[in-house]
Amino acid sequence: MASSVPSIPISPDYPAEIAVAAVPDDPRVWVPQAPSVWFRPLMFNTVAGGWCNLLKVTTTGIVSRHRHPGAVFGYVISGKWKYDEHDWTAEAGSFVYEPPGEIHTLRVPPESSEMVTFFNISGAMVYVDEEGRQTGYEDAFTKIQLCRDYYDSNGLGASYVDQFIR
Ligand code: FE
Repeated sequence: MASSVPSIPISPDYPAEIAVAAVPDDPRVWVPQAPSVWFRPLMFNTVAGGWCNLLKVTTTGIVSRHRHPGAVFGYVISGKWKYDEHDWTAEAGSFVYEPPGEIHTLRVPPESSEMVTFFNISGAMVYVDEEGRQTGYEDAFTKIQLCRDYYDSNGLGASYVDQFIR
């Protein structure tokens, strides 16, 4: 029987989906971003601004102090971490929401030698010192360039990152 509800057309303009194993088999996919800190790109949003990645930290102590202009959503896959400004500790299975505007200091506690966390980051990351002065900046475009340079150097090829860009 014919339905009176019109079908919704499928647009050829939809961006392609992404479906990958979040934790990669190939260690070369992890891009170094600071001593003992790596990220695994999952999606770069070049239109709205922002990106999804896994962050891996293989040391304890302070990782970075930073400010988020936009909201951040996270899910901890393994290990533990905390922000010095808050009394909670995120651990495997934790969901975290970080409000826009907040400055916080990421620390991996001594009992956790490695952590991996999925982050969906809106806008940018602004790194700051103890006085709140800017020391670094990252957005989807600086992250893409980091990937291109690293993949170009390790045999995956600069274009390996293209599959994550929308
Ligand atoms: Fe943060």
